[in-house]
This record gives sequence, C-alpha cells and structure tokens, in this order.
Amino acid sequence: MPKRIFTFRCGEADRTADTVESLGIKGSNLALLASLGAPVPPGFTIATSAWREAKGGAGELPQGLRSDLRTAVEWLEGVTDRRFGGDQRPLLIAVRTSASSQMPGLAESVLDVGLTDRTVEVLAAELNDAAFAYRSYRRFIESYAGLVFDADPSEFEDLSDQEREKAGWESEPADESQWRALIARYHDYLEEELGAVVPQTPLQQLTEVVSASFSSWRNPVAASHRVLHGISENAGLAVTVHAMIFNERNQNSGRGRALSRDLATGKARLTGEFVLGSTRHGDLGEAVDPLDLGTLDNAGKADFPADFEVLWHFVQRIEAHMGDVVEVDFMIGDGELFFMQSRPARRSAAEAVRIAVELVKDAIIEEQEAILRVDPASLDLLLHPRIERGPDMRVLARGMGASPGAATGEIALTSDRAQELAAEGRPVILVRNETYPEDIHGMHVADGVLTVRGGTTSHAAVVARGIGKPCVTGAGALRIQPDARLVHTGGSVLKEGDQITIDGASGEVIEGAVRLIRPTLSGDFATLMQFADRARRMGVRTNAERPHEARAARSFGAEGIGLCRTEHMFFEGDRIQAMREMILAPDEKGRRRALDKLLPMQRSDFVELFEIMAGLPVTIRLLDPPLHEFLPKSEGEIAETATTLDVDESVVRQRIAALEEFNPMLGHRGCRLAISYPEIVEMQARAIFEAAIEAGERAGDAVVPEIMVPLVSLRRELDFVKERIDAVAALVTEERGQHFNYLVGTMIELPRAVIRADTIADVAEFFSFGTNDLTQTVYGISRDDAANFLSNYVRQGILERDPFQTVDVEGVGEMIALAVEKARKVRPDISLGVCGEQGGDPASIAFFEETTLDYVSCSPYRVPIARLAAAQSAIRVNRAGRSRARR
Ligand code: PEP
Ligand code: MG
Repeated sequence: MPKRIFTFRCGEADRTADTVESLGIKGSNLALLASLGAPVPPGFTIATSAWREAKGGAGELPQGLRSDLRTAVEWLEGVTDRRFGGDQRPLLIAVRTSASSQMPGLAESVLDVGLTDRTVEVLAAELNDAAFAYRSYRRFIESYAGLVFDADPSEFEDLSDQEREKAGWESEPADESQWRALIARYHDYLEEELGAVVPQTPLQQLTEVVSASFSSWRNPVAASHRVLHGISENAGLAVTVHAMIFNERNQNSGRGRALSRDLATGKARLTGEFVLGSTRHGDLGEAVDPLDLGTLDNAGKADFPADFEVLWHFVQRIEAHMGDVVEVDFMIGDGELFFMQSRPARRSAAEAVRIAVELVKDAIIEEQEAILRVDPASLDLLLHPRIERGPDMRVLARGMGASPGAATGEIALTSDRAQELAAEGRPVILVRNETYPEDIHGMHVADGVLTVRGGTTSHAAVVARGIGKPCVTGAGALRIQPDARLVHTGGSVLKEGDQITIDGASGEVIEGAVRLIRPTLSGDFATLMQFADRARRMGVRTNAERPHEARAARSFGAEGIGLCRTEHMFFEGDRIQAMREMILAPDEKGRRRALDKLLPMQRSDFVELFEIMAGLPVTIRLLDPPLHEFLPKSEGEIAETATTLDVDESVVRQRIAALEEFNPMLGHRGCRLAISYPEIVEMQARAIFEAAIEAGERAGDAVVPEIMVPLVSLRRELDFVKERIDAVAALVTEERGQHFNYLVGTMIELPRAVIRADTIADVAEFFSFGTNDLTQTVYGISRDDAANFLSNYVRQGILERDPFQTVDVEGVGEMIALAVEKARKVRPDISLGVCGEQGGDPASIAFFEETTLDYVSCSPYRVPIARLAAAQSAIRVNRAGRSRARR
C-alpha cells in the first residue's frame, strides 16, 4: 500500500509525493511553503491514494488509514506540544479538502475539530476567554453537523433565536452558563430530530470529518464540474489537516492576503490587505475596512501584530521560487505569523504584460517565460480605443460588449447608408435590429456596429470580432423606426445622421461624440513585443488596403502587407462611378475607357501603400469579388447611376440581371474575372508597376511588388493571368526604359489548388493560403451563411470551434500541410503565408508554426496578438524539439 499521509511543518515537509495530483492544491502548496522555510501551521495531508483505498469515503474508513491517522495525530501532538482531547492544552485542528484543481461542491473546511463539551472548558480556561472558546465550539458543531449529518444550517439559527429570547442575551450568550445552555440545545436538537450525536472523542470526530470530506467528491455540483472540465472521476480528493491558528482571537491576531508586487506598477512591493482578528467578530455583520498593506508607513508596520519584514521576506522568497507574482493568504494568531496558501496573483491583461516584463527585469524569469505568461487573445483589450469617461457622458442604452473597442460616428440605419457616409469619409455607426450576411459591406465600412437584438455570438458579434470593429449587441432599450429613420432610446429620439458612441467592452451606447483614447504601443507592451520578436520565427504581415489601416498596422509592428484586397479601394468617391461605367460598358473598348479613369486612382493608392510600408513586402491581390457587388442596389441608386453615367435605367437593370448569380461566392469571381476581362488585370498590373517605380524613385530604393492572383484552381488559369501581367511589365519597362523586379503568386483557397499545388508552384513564386475560402470549399459551407447554424454545431459538440475563426487542423489544416509539402518539392524557397481570418487567431497560429509557414497576415489590430502568438508557438515547437526537416 503506498504511503497514505504526508506531514509538513515549518522548514520541513515530507515531499516524497508532493504533487498536486497526490496532495491536491492546498496540500502540495503547504508542503512547498513549509520546505521553503515559511512559517506554516504544522499538519499533514491524506493523499488521493488513500481516498481511492477508502473508495471515496463510501462506508467506514479502512483500518490502515485509521491507524495512520492516529499516528499522524500523535506526530502533530508532539510537534505542537498539545493533546487531542487533552485536559490541558487541547489540540484543535482544521480539516480541508484539497483537490488537484478548484472544484465547486466539495466539503467546506471544518475548523476546531477536537473541541468537545470537556475541551471547550479547558480551552476557555487556557485562553481566559470563554466567549472565544464557546464561539469556536458552536461553529464547529454547526459545520460538523452540516457536513456529517447533512443538518440544515437555518435550524441552528432558529435554535439560537429561541435560546436568545429565553435567556435574554443580545448578539451572543453573555456568560458560560448561557453558552452551555445553547450548546445543550444544539445537542438535544441533533439527537431528537436527526438521531445524531457529535462524538465527544476527537479522533472519532476527525475520522468522521475525513470520511464525509472524501464523500463530498460525489456531490452533484462537483460531479458536473468534472464532466464539464474533463476531470477524471478517479482523480480523487486529498484532505489536509493542520493545527488551528486562532486568528480571530484578539488585537494581536488577524488574517490577510499579501501580494509580492504592486500590480499597478509591476514593481516588487508588498501590497494586499489585512483584517485584525478582534474586529472580525463581536459586531457581526458590520463591514470592517481592511488595512491596506501597501500603504503602511513605518509606524503602521511597527503596529502590525506580526513581524512585517518576515512576511515580506517570505512573500519574496515564494515569488522567486514560483517565478511569478504571488498572492499569499496568511494568518496571525496572537502575534505569530503563518502562511496558509499561495497562488499566482490574479491580474488584468495590462497587469499581465507589466508583470511579465518586470519579472524579467528583476531576473526572476527569462524572456521566453515572460512571452508564455501573457494570453495573446487578452491583448485585444489593450489594442482598441477606449472611451475617455467624463461626468457629462450620457448613456442612452446598454447591451452586450460583443467586440472590444470604442467608436464614435453618425447613425446609419442601413448598410447602404453606411456605405454612402463612409464614402464621404464620415465615421459611421451601423445601427440595425440584427445583421445578416448582406450587411457585410455596411459592417466593413462602419466604425462600429450596434444591434437591438442578439448576443455575443450573433452574426453581428461574430463578424465584428473577426474584422476588429467595436460592436454592441442586444441593446434592447432601443427601438428603430425605419420609415421615419429614427431611433427611440426611451428618453430621447435620435435621427439617422446623429452622432453616437459605442463601447464594445462595456456594452454602453452613449449620446454624441466622446473623446476616444487611442492605444499606443509603448513601455512594457513594447518591451514584451520586442521579446516576442526575438523569439518568433514566422513573419507577421497585415491585411490592409487603406492608408490609415496600413499606418496602424505598421505602428503595431506589421512587417509588410500580406493581403491588399484591391476591390475595397473601388468604393470611394468617383471610383465607384468609374467601376460601374466599366461594368456597364457594352464592349472592351468601353471597358478600357472606364479603366483608364481608374488607373491613376489605383496608382496613387499603391504609391501611398508602398511609401507607408517603406521597403517591406506588399502583396496586392487582383480584383476578387463578382462584379455585381459594385452595381447599385436600391431603386434610388439605380436611378442615380443611370443619370450620372447618362444611360437609360433599363441598361443598368439589364446589366444587374445579367450579372446575377445563384451562388456568387462560387461564381464569376477571382481569376475567373481576369480570364473574362483581361483588361482589368492589365490596368491593375500597370497601376502596380508604375506605382512601384514612382515610390522606388522617391525612396531611392527599388520596390518589389508581389502580385497575387485569387481563386486559382488550375495551373492554366495562373499561366493565363501571369502572361498578361508579364506582358504589361514588359510594356512598362520599355516605356520607362527601366527594369524592375516583381513577384507573381497565388492564393491557395480551393481544394483543387491544394491537390495541384506542385504544378501551380511551378508558376507561382509565392502562395498565400486563403483560409476563409479554403474552409468554405473544403467544408462546402457558405462562409456568409455559416453563422446561422455553426453555433448549433459548437453547442452540440459536433464541432469544437468555428472553423472560420480557428483553422480546422484535421481537415483544412491537412490540406495546407499537403500543399506546403507539394510546393516545396518543386520550389524549395517558395514563400508561404496565410491571409485568411485565422491568420490572426492564436490557436491557428500555433498550427501554422508547426506547418512551418513563413508568415501570417491579419487585420491591423491583431498584429500584436499574432506577434505574441507566433513567438509562443515557436518557443513551444522548439521546446518540443520538433524537427524542422520540412523546412
Ligand atoms: C480568404 O479566402 O481566406 C481570403 C483571405 O480572401 P477573401 O476573404 O477576400 O475571400
Ligand atoms: Mg478568398
């Protein structure tokens, strides 16, 4: 039979099996504190193996365990110089369940085991404090009866009330005889109503409490917690027993919580709080302000009932051992200090960053460890604008904070209106009852999204989080009146066009424009990012096409643009008109005329992007979406377009009808457009080359653009498009008399392209995995309709996660790995990246690291998240010693 019981006392612990699995959190932690020399109450832990032997407390405790318990108690008697049930100096102990993780439903601690009708009197005499002794005894009986007999705690309250009325005391009995009468009443009640007797032999009390604590493992709350968290039923429960500390006894006693650092600054300094023992009882129910340990001056430290320096010394020692800022529970019993438990301190996202950096500065942990300490996803909170709160801020409604960040803008009640306002350069908040896939364009241009209905996983929430826009959902106090274009907020009425502000963290909807505090990357954040950059292998680029996005991404540390969706550049100002003119043109000549108008606009866009990226790679993708997306939708827009382009409305309508598709996402888009209308590719290629030359000349350093062809499934498609690009390059070279370099590559976003990745890599100089479309096509799930049913899959456990957010390693991931292998066979130095939404998702980034991709590309605000996640992944892969043979 393995050893059942493990003892501990200040300076020594039986650490032959001090694992969390064996001794639970409390037991293993007390063993650790003891072995670090910290003062702990002496005691012992009954290991989980004994729990298994005792069949989880079903029935009597086995003989072997009983006898070991007796031996352990004798040991404790020796150490404390007290006797269990003794006529002098009685030993009192606390019994606590100790599971290997926090688990609700387990037995509460039972304190003062060892008190009996006899020992309570001895204790009263020893301490010369009858009230304290009886108060402890009463508490013991209540918790013993609750745990062992399943007695209802409210019954004891009733008994107390009856006894108070009878004897005429106030908050508690006034003398020993009144106390004895109350206790006798408790005993009578238990015997008469429950047929139960609190044993008057301390060892029997202990055995029963241990047995009942063991059984609490089967409490339904604990059982369902285990199912929910995948904890084995056989993991089992340890029980820790230690000598009582009388922390409530007098002005020299108390309890507190100390932290090894000031979380606000990350600096090593004792902070936390402390409550004096005697203030905690007596005036029951009265709130007592705890003492702030961080503000104690020298006089305050001198008045502290124990040695403040000893507390500080061991808190630092524990921090150094744990390698993390710690939070320590301590007790003081009549001037003597005891450490009860320590754990890593809870911290906010900002504090986590600060602490990780400070721990490195103080040489407590290494840089790589600091990187692993911060959850990349938590950075989201630090990267988005926040509201500067002022006294006159008026909250109009509250909903759910569905996507972090804050935004101010004019109310737009439809996505089309949002698009119009955005086209004029005006910030917009899209306000809808709920959003649907057809609102995507409105959401993309809006600065924030607010919905009346929905929750944190509704369409609006999911999409907004994906594109990094602040979003509030479920603001049920709002009522939209679409015909009048009004929003009722209960107290007031807003018109479309009025300004509002939303806070996607708190869920508040605020009247008017509120000053926003833009995040800056400085101080500790920047330091952590430097650590991450030193540790990561993969590059991090951004998906950006607008100058402000590109600038933001650069400030967040993007190392280039991995995806510039050129179609997003066509929606502004005159461009959409020129685009429509091209689409409506009856022949190639007409299209070319319209494209000529677009050329200078595209060129200047690209020059700006090249200049912002200052020599970093810029991947520009040729036009991808179906043309109908650029055509007007409402009647008013159709009429307006017809007037502007000087064509009959019927022409516009006919063209709309002709371009209509059953399934546009699988229709006439991507390189298929380029094959039907090569003149579009030619215009875009020319704009790119001319911009590269211009930006290169200005910077005095050549710009090497990367041109990316979307939605390729056949090598011949890529051949066709590349020939057009090369032809334009030759033309521009001749016209300018200047040679320049460029790369042509492709998106890998269709299953056929994966299967034929080797032949495609013959032509393509780089691949970028479009995991949005690849997920859509591998699953056969429309990415715009998925929100309607994927949440059910997740809820039913059919899918663990939404594959559009986190790459599906087993399916889509396998496809990516296959394409990587095939591509590198024919072109070993091919550059491989990913630019789908999953490129900014930490769990997906871990997979991309394992697959040895060269870079990820994500939306600007996710760049720091990706840098940190890439660093963590690299560290983990290196530690696992994974071979990089494929590289
Ligand atoms: C993709 O499909 O993953 C991608 C990045 O392209 P888009 O989202 O523009 O289709
Ligand atoms: Mg795509």
